Amino acid sequence: EVLDRIQALEPKIHSFLCVTADKALEQAKAVDAKIAAGEEIGLLAGIPVGVKDNMCTKGIPTTCASKILENFVPPYESTVTQKLADAGAVTVGKTNLDEFAMGSSTENSAFQLTANPWDLERVPGGSSGGSAAAVAAHECVVSLGSDTGGSIRQPASFCGVVGMKPTYGLVSRYGLVAFASSLDQIGPFGRTVEDAAILLGAIAGYDPKDSTSLKVEIPDYTQFLKPNLKSMRIGIVRETFAEGLDPAVEQAVNKAIEQLKQLGAEIKEVSCPRFRYGLPTYYIIAPSEASANLARYDGVKYGLRVPDAENLIDMYARTRAMGFGKEVKRRIMVGTYALSAGYYDAYYLKAQKVRTLIKQDFETAFGQVDVLVTPTVPMTAFKAGEKTDDPLSMYLTDLMTITVNLAGLPGLSIPCGFDEKGMPIGMQLIGNVLREDQLFQVAHAYE
Ligand code: GLN
Repeated sequence: EVLDRIQALEPKIHSFLCVTADKALEQAKAVDAKIAAGEEIGLLAGIPVGVKDNMCTKGIPTTCASKILENFVPPYESTVTQKLADAGAVTVGKTNLDEFAMGSSTENSAFQLTANPWDLERVPGGSSGGSAAAVAAHECVVSLGSDTGGSIRQPASFCGVVGMKPTYGLVSRYGLVAFASSLDQIGPFGRTVEDAAILLGAIAGYDPKDSTSLKVEIPDYTQFLKPNLKSMRIGIVRETFAEGLDPAVEQAVNKAIEQLKQLGAEIKEVSCPRFRYGLPTYYIIAPSEASANLARYDGVKYGLRVPDAENLIDMYARTRAMGFGKEVKRRIMVGTYALSAGYYDAYYLKAQKVRTLIKQDFETAFGQVDVLVTPTVPMTAFKAGEKTDDPLSMYLTDLMTITVNLAGLPGLSIPCGFDEKGMPIGMQLIGNVLREDQLFQVAHAYE
């Protein structure tokens, strides 16, 4: 059914960079055979899943939507996709993204534009725009995205689905193509909180192949899906309801907060005064880490290599000039500059210090409440092309999600209404370290 739907809708939506129909049918038949033989089947048996194309899949192209990896076929499987397979999931394809997950609209893909299923002229958000659009358009039941500064929650908000970024270290990054290693985290998209909770349960857990992986027990997250919020303290982050917030978004989130109150939650206002330094801090740290991570694409080890190079340096330079898109080059240059001798202290070190202050703001807030609430994005989905020439205005879409990555906390976006044009609005819930349970509880009670 989803393969038929993909065939019917892809000419308009373009969520997928590659559809693995044959393999999907094979996996589905294997589940059928198990059922027929009376064997035990996995938690995700037969569930069609989309996977963002920055997670390595053995034998299936993994492009990161970049020309430099256009012909790259990984010889190994990422931990998350292995876990999906072990749970019996059926992977239907690899979804579109901003090149190397750098962007907020999926327009930085080197290969195709993905449309927002609610209005085909608008962007699905990004960078996991393909994964969000695919779930919103019922081209798969759930999907995986990655979130470095908002790339799961922001497209979830724009496409009217649930998206969650787990605590840093909860889900293995082994086989996730690195963008900014201290911020990257894989997480689920679903049309319901329950679907997202089940998918997170299937992919989370300690992995010796990821040195930042946390050694913690993974609970069955569905046990936290209770109908009320008695004794839950929820904090409204004052600074996120400020100037520049689309009035329709403000109204919808306020209405949702009212509903949380009716469900029994205690609502308080809290202050996180250093939140406003989130964007400048992120746009030093993320490009710095990216510039180091992307040094590996040198035409020798992976993907593209230009022909007829005069010497090694010429080959490096021309391969990278041809293989990387404009935004990726911008990040490499900013990051290389921020890390260079003489500027390191002024930029990178300073940004790391501010990162600590932002973390402290969260710690103070979590001394008073259990869960924080903000709009996910200050606006709704914009038209394709509207912000492509203005990187700063594009970066502003991540205003409210980015601090959560800087602090390594879990965050979830849940649909909470529509603007006057009928575009979905998202509310962000932020939890303390490893309190995914509370996020799922609040989101499910609200839903
Ligand atoms: N939009 C942000 C950026 O461009 C975040 C991307 C992400 O979370 N991968 O860096």
